[in-house]
Amino acid sequence: MTTPTPVAPTEGHPGAGHHVLRGVGVGRRAVVGPVAQVRAAPAVPADAAVLVDGVPADAAATRAALEAAFASVAAGLREQASRATGTVQEVLAATAQMAADNALRSQVLAKVDAGQPPVAAVDAVVAQFAAMFEAAGGYLAERVTDLRSVRDRVVAAALGLPAPGVPELHEPSVVVAEDLAPADTAALDLAKVLAIVTELGGPTGHTAIIAGQLGLPCLVRVTGATDVPEGALAAVDAAAGTLTVEPDDALRADVERRAARDAALAEDTAPGATADGHAVALLANIGTAEDAERVAGPGVEGVGLFRTEVLFLERTAAPTQADQAAAYGRVLRAMAGHKVVVRTLDAGADKPLAFATQPDEENPALGVRGYRLVRTHPELLDTQLAALGQARAETGAEPWVMAPMIATAAEARDFAARARAAGVRTVGVMVEVPAAALRAREVLAEVDFVSLGTNDLAQYAMATDRLRGELADLLDVWQPAVLDLVAATARAGAEVGKPVGVCGESAGDPLMALVLVGLGVTSLSMSAGAIGAVRYAVRHHTLERCRELAAAALAAGSAPDARAAVLALVADEVRGTLGL
Ligand code: PEP
Ligand code: MG
Repeated sequence: MTTPTPVAPTEGHPGAGHHVLRGVGVGRRAVVGPVAQVRAAPAVPADAAVLVDGVPADAAATRAALEAAFASVAAGLREQASRATGTVQEVLAATAQMAADNALRSQVLAKVDAGQPPVAAVDAVVAQFAAMFEAAGGYLAERVTDLRSVRDRVVAAALGLPAPGVPELHEPSVVVAEDLAPADTAALDLAKVLAIVTELGGPTGHTAIIAGQLGLPCLVRVTGATDVPEGALAAVDAAAGTLTVEPDDALRADVERRAARDAALAEDTAPGATADGHAVALLANIGTAEDAERVAGPGVEGVGLFRTEVLFLERTAAPTQADQAAAYGRVLRAMAGHKVVVRTLDAGADKPLAFATQPDEENPALGVRGYRLVRTHPELLDTQLAALGQARAETGAEPWVMAPMIATAAEARDFAARARAAGVRTVGVMVEVPAAALRAREVLAEVDFVSLGTNDLAQYAMATDRLRGELADLLDVWQPAVLDLVAATARAGAEVGKPVGVCGESAGDPLMALVLVGLGVTSLSMSAGAIGAVRYAVRHHTLERCRELAAAALAAGSAPDARAAVLALVADEVRGTLGL
């Protein structure tokens, strides 16, 4: 992640022609490609008319336009579903079915026949259906989002406006959106996504993390990005935090040069170590078995964070023990012989689950989230641990397991007991709540290892919502208070001789990685695409030098000063090669 700074004003002008927009970058890569806009629902007045040849249509033509809109939306979604797989396919097929629903269509047409304007008619009938679905609860209640998506698509089609939602990509593209829900990201054809750019969101929000996991450069908080015309050529530079529309030849050449450098860095697959041979395992963060299969290879020493909640998202009920065991088994097989740290379900806050999280929490990030779900749904955790125990038995691998959002040593003890009862031998917890960092020694007495989740640790230490991009300067691991918590945790680990890893996004920042090593962190887990640059940076500094860098960071009075102090001490070669 580039150092988050308050969002600078836009240079140039929004829209077409060469200009530069600024935001907060996630990752370090740069790419060039055409822009594909994820359109928000059209804001149309309820009395907007269907136009034929520029003039409001009569009743019969309006009716025909609406009928055609329902039919084309249903056919389009069905077509998209037929080319998709897995969850994306299920979501698209269910939505297509709604667009083809007779009751929905005929009630809208009846209202239009009775003289209501078309948009008002669609709105009214969809609102009625949504209320019915919500009252029915369960599966139907969860389909309300799909119902609203049908409404937006039908209105857009009837009025001849661009279709809202995730576009079908025909070539590798820079996907631009106001914001992306996890479900939108799931509906993207990732093979054709070069980069993700959003106007909203924060650098450690889940869109940014999913992009990072997929190795895609990402920019968030880019004011004006949704005004860039569809198809315009754009350069995304995650390291600089810039979106350059219609880049010149020099910038395009620079992007190519950096791609070549990244390819060269990726060729080095030696295990992570400092210049004097102190080992620092370089691990990958993953969310699915497919991720594990994609990233497995000589340059990746294992998985330091398997975000299992991805398996639970977009479902109406938790996956069964057998389904989970199959998924965990796939990951263990893909990583055969390497460490895999499975993180138990981290639902809640920005990752709500219909069947587990409480919808009415006022402060969900401070609520029943992560390990705390054991208070309301202990069966979710126990089934998950049993599934992991089953995968362990079936593969012969020895997975590590850890719980998110642990605040006390007593919670760590309870989690360890449950995990060991399920047959998992190496049990740890995440340190993401300042209370756990301050009491790391007591927490470590209960478990075999800890892993610092610096995204949440910064959020909770700085009382700054990780989704609020405009506070990104506070939500910064370089903040002295956050570094103190990391240092306290690493010190406790060294004292008791137990591993302390980092699996937040900070581990993938080469400069911060050096500081973390100097603080005593024993492994770094990051999006696989970040490993090459981190390996290179660590290799060019001795452990003693990393300790000096860490001391310089801790001595600084502010986040920018800490980063600047470290940058001034980093080897020139590393600064030059990585463009720091
Ligand atoms: C973190 O909080 O740093 C972390 C790794 O967990 P997540 O980002 O999934 O909350
Ligand atoms: Mg976390």
